[in-house]
Amino acid sequence: MKLATKIIIALFVGAITGLLLNLFAPNVFKVLDPYLFTPLGQIFLNLIKMLVVPIVFFSITLGVAGLGDPKKLGRIGVKTITYFLLTTTFAIIIGISLALLIKPGAFGNFDTKAADYSAEEAPSMAETLLNIIPTNPVQSLVEGNMLQIIVFCVFLGLGIAMLGKKTEGLLKLFEQGNELMMYLVGVVMKFAPYGTFGLIATAIGSQGLDAMKAMGLYFSVVLIALILHFFLTYGSTIAILAKRNPMAFFKGFSPAMVVAFSTSSSNAVLPVSMETAQKRLKVPEPISSFVQPLGATINMDGTAIMQGVATIFIAQVYGVELTLVQMLTVVLTAVLASVGTAGVPGVGLIMLAMVLNSVNLPVEGIALILGIDRLLDMARTVVNITGDAACAVIVSETEKKHEKEAPTPNLSL
Ligand code: ASP
Repeated sequence: MKLATKIIIALFVGAITGLLLNLFAPNVFKVLDPYLFTPLGQIFLNLIKMLVVPIVFFSITLGVAGLGDPKKLGRIGVKTITYFLLTTTFAIIIGISLALLIKPGAFGNFDTKAADYSAEEAPSMAETLLNIIPTNPVQSLVEGNMLQIIVFCVFLGLGIAMLGKKTEGLLKLFEQGNELMMYLVGVVMKFAPYGTFGLIATAIGSQGLDAMKAMGLYFSVVLIALILHFFLTYGSTIAILAKRNPMAFFKGFSPAMVVAFSTSSSNAVLPVSMETAQKRLKVPEPISSFVQPLGATINMDGTAIMQGVATIFIAQVYGVELTLVQMLTVVLTAVLASVGTAGVPGVGLIMLAMVLNSVNLPVEGIALILGIDRLLDMARTVVNITGDAACAVIVSETEKKHEKEAPTPNLSL
């Protein structure tokens, strides 16, 4: 049986196990979870997280060195950022429109008096932007600060390309390091079915359906918006811009989606999503290694959708009518908030405070959606990383044109 099939089966078996235990045997779940589900999930999660920093380090440097030409890097950078920003804006507009249409906050009794949520301090945008240049790259690697690592690796890669022969030993080292990391992803992925099973069983088993019932409409609006964005935005851009079959794209990328669903972390799934894009979607390594780590850090369409729907939902619950200007403010701040959201579980919710503040909505409203957020986080992380892969495919297809015009010198030894 293929690994991808095994992972998908594990997803279903884990979900059903979690659901059944939650419904019929919550006490058995309480006993099994700390000794079986959580350890299985945690071992897998740690195994893939272990590879994130080395993979990003080796592959981005190698990718940039492989592109060779700063002009080409600039072109790919502009395409990537433009795609990220446009699709994120689109995502929020879909989320807001659907929430305005279905009005999830206008029906049901929401206890706003009991709502208690103290917002964590979200880093300011200026701070985030200024901080992307690392003053100590070793510290960035130790802390796993993705944007700083990306910036440092872009410099390293460009330097290696510029120095050519003088640094050919280093280039070889990066090639071999990258090779080794990709091999290790394959090894670690052998454990993926068990890990997926454990992660899903824990998530579903501990959530319960009560939260889902109370927040059903909000949950559905976010989910519908995610599905619409997934198929419409990514499907159409893959068809129109990359001229590829969208269904083949979704199918090819599905193993990474399942891992994203079970881990709820764009960062953790990065080794898997890069390998999937390179092997199954045939995205050239230099492009995949530049676009996907960047996307996992700044491109969060699923998160933006949740933030758009949540803002409108909270406004409705508190009986606040948002003006058009306020709505535009929400779009703008949600783009920034999703850029600032780190690719780890639950951060999207913390950044939501920034969006609510921008239009003076009560941050306590977040307490209402807290209970249901774990499940939605799983779904939105799938959308987050699929957007990165779609961008990588589009960039690689559009770059082929340039390649035909002017083939880049092959830097590998
Ligand atoms: N869990 C999301 C991700 O890693 C971020 C979020 O929305 O909380 O992509």
